[in-house]
Amino acid sequence: MRLHVLGSGTAIPHPRRGASGYALRADDGSVCLLECGPGSTRRWPGAAITFDTATLLAITHHHVDHCADLSAVLFGRLVTECAAKLTLVGPVGHADHLARLEAAHGAWVQDKHGGREVVELGDRDSITVGAFTLEARHVLHLADAVGYRVTADGQTLAFSGDSGPCDGLIALCRGADVALLECSYPAERETKRHLNARTAAEVAVAAGVERLVLTHFYPECDAVDIAAQVRAAGYEGALALANDGDEFDLGGRGW
Ligand SMILES: [Zn+2]
Ligand SMILES: [Zn+2]
Repeated sequence: MRLHVLGSGTAIPHPRRGASGYALRADDGSVCLLECGPGSTRRWPGAAITFDTATLLAITHHHVDHCADLSAVLFGRLVTECAAKLTLVGPVGHADHLARLEAAHGAWVQDKHGGREVVELGDRDSITVGAFTLEARHVLHLADAVGYRVTADGQTLAFSGDSGPCDGLIALCRGADVALLECSYPAERETKRHLNARTAAEVAVAAGVERLVLTHFYPECDAVDIAAQVRAAGYEGALALANDGDEFDLGGRGW
């Protein structure tokens, strides 16, 4: 399974980082999208993602920087007459969110050609779609926010979505091959419902993470050495700071 970073930033415009977007590609070529932040679809071509392959789309919570391109995806599927069925996964309230998009945009965001299935996952719920199994854990952010463990090809990625440090997030990461954790801020900025460079490291240590990818950087992270702060907080495993366009082989070593 390969991880493509479509957007490693937030809602704040940044010259090198777009809003949240990730794609996992299984060995059979199928794609599971994690988040769909504004502009993240712009990076689909670079990762060889099309409407026909992007048939599983999971959102962790309904902050705009994580889901604003949902409408763009639905509209794009319509105008290209995409015949592939779309599975839309999200937290409790996802069906209502999609209904509100339809109330705003009308028939332009309906699936007239391929059809769709909407699945809401609460804490510890799971679903298997094709090569991918997703298990949700409640995390500390919005009331219904979840993170996902995504398993395919015998490998598991743990993805925090947005979350502060909490037991659910540690459980989510335990035993995963790679943990993809948000790291919104430098260590100096304390937050309850986001991670900073220190708390991200502490979660990774508590969960026994061996390979860690950090992402979701607010611009103030540019002014500090995030990797050094993570090391200073005691994390000793493999570490990468995600950039837009990065690609990681979850089965590979040496990073
Ligand atoms: Zn958020
Ligand atoms: Zn966010």
